[in-house]
Amino acid sequence: MAKLPRKRFLKDNMPKLNELNLSEALEQLRSEQITSLDLVQACFAQIRKTDPELQVFITLVEEQALEQARTADKLIHQEGEAAFIKQPLLGVPYACKDNFCTKGIQTTASSNILRDFIPPYESTVTAKLKEAGAILLGKTNMDSFAHGSSTETSDFFTTKNPWDTSRVPGGSSGGSAAAVVSHMCIFAIGSETGGSIRGPASWCGLTGLKPSYGRVSRYGLIAMASSTDSPGPITKSAADAAIILQVLAGKDPFDATTLNAQVDDYFDNIMQFAIKGLKIGKPKSYFGLDLQPGLRAVLDEAVVHFEKLGAEIVEVDLMDPKYSIAVYTILQRSEVSSNLARFDGIRYGHSRDAFNFENKKRMMLGAYALSSGYYDQYYSKAQKVRTLIVEDFERAFQKVDVLIGPTMPCVALKIGESANSPMFGEMMDVLTEPSTIAGLTGITFPCGYVDSLPVGMQVIGPALSESTVLGVVNTYQNATNYHKKFPNLESLT
Ligand code: GLN
Repeated sequence: MAKLPRKRFLKDNMPKLNELNLSEALEQLRSEQITSLDLVQACFAQIRKTDPELQVFITLVEEQALEQARTADKLIHQEGEAAFIKQPLLGVPYACKDNFCTKGIQTTASSNILRDFIPPYESTVTAKLKEAGAILLGKTNMDSFAHGSSTETSDFFTTKNPWDTSRVPGGSSGGSAAAVVSHMCIFAIGSETGGSIRGPASWCGLTGLKPSYGRVSRYGLIAMASSTDSPGPITKSAADAAIILQVLAGKDPFDATTLNAQVDDYFDNIMQFAIKGLKIGKPKSYFGLDLQPGLRAVLDEAVVHFEKLGAEIVEVDLMDPKYSIAVYTILQRSEVSSNLARFDGIRYGHSRDAFNFENKKRMMLGAYALSSGYYDQYYSKAQKVRTLIVEDFERAFQKVDVLIGPTMPCVALKIGESANSPMFGEMMDVLTEPSTIAGLTGITFPCGYVDSLPVGMQVIGPALSESTVLGVVNTYQNATNYHKKFPNLESLT
């Protein structure tokens, strides 16, 4: 078939290429209205403009990315649609949290311990993205070893929130969220153990999906708490998240905890999804929490919106989320003390002195909780309460299809505010920790503003109900514009 001449895309009233969302970028790459090279270059131009102030990237791989973009363009030109059947993300640039091993590319987990680490192997997540044709731009800042909710525990620098640079972007996947909302990339990858995808996505006004535990492989993800670690996408919409999950999900022989369940056709499912009659549970304990003034009104409006869209809102009793803080704290520290033991100064080169205060505190608490005499009192008891939390959700899902709630108890905090709060990570993630402990799926989406900062609402569903939670948010986003609002970055340029 004859090829149409390539149209220039950059017209006055059009968004810049790096401002496209994933669905738009794919459509325009497919029709050859734009090239991958232009798209990748537009992202790097934005990175050069905004990263010096926002402090998002630890490592950039520009030459490699440009080379991959040229190859993608050739393939698209030669094969047309067929190229996208083989590689559904062909030519799309993305950013990845720096705790996914990338072969030959420095991977630090924002830690001094791993500051010179160049992995000899590729994580399954980044391997799948590469296979699907996505182009890695660089690795993003995070809380060191993912210990935190602000990126302030990074051993290198604190990432700034693009909505207000005196504030944190959330964490631990704060660099990934800041990269997407400042249009440095088309989408990004994060990981969540207790709230690290939903938290920063919420504080940056984005859509963030935490898949069910075991839906996406942890192979090559630098382990934090292995019984809850879940990789997932941070995107500009639920439809974009569905496209990425499609690529990431599935059984992986390298991760025995991945689920065998069939991978749904997430994008098709959400396009056909009907919200009418869906029972959405509103947990009294989540909405009854001490939320920042102004937040409740924004959230209530979103709840009313779901009702207008045809969903049935049902109040449900769910265990007080404060119990999850206790359980998460014990389990996460215990798993950290075991997982971080491998950084013993022999295998990765830097002595254990290089751990920061937050890392050390967590390892020591974990070793204490696991030590003989205290094991029953702490670790074993926490596991029992974990079972109660799982059962509590199971009971709720007998009555309703999904649950909604605030994602965070407040909007993005000022840089430095976490300093005097030793339990900052837990206090901020109080509403995301229960569902990660239970291995469920959850997605946050923007639903309004308080003090000109984005507010996130979350939808939580039973394990493997990604099509449903994505469908709920996609329905909301089809009817609203909050996900299309981005911070004004003019002052940075
Ligand atoms: N805020 C939680 C913590 O500090 C969660 C971090 C995460 O999900 N990686 O542990």
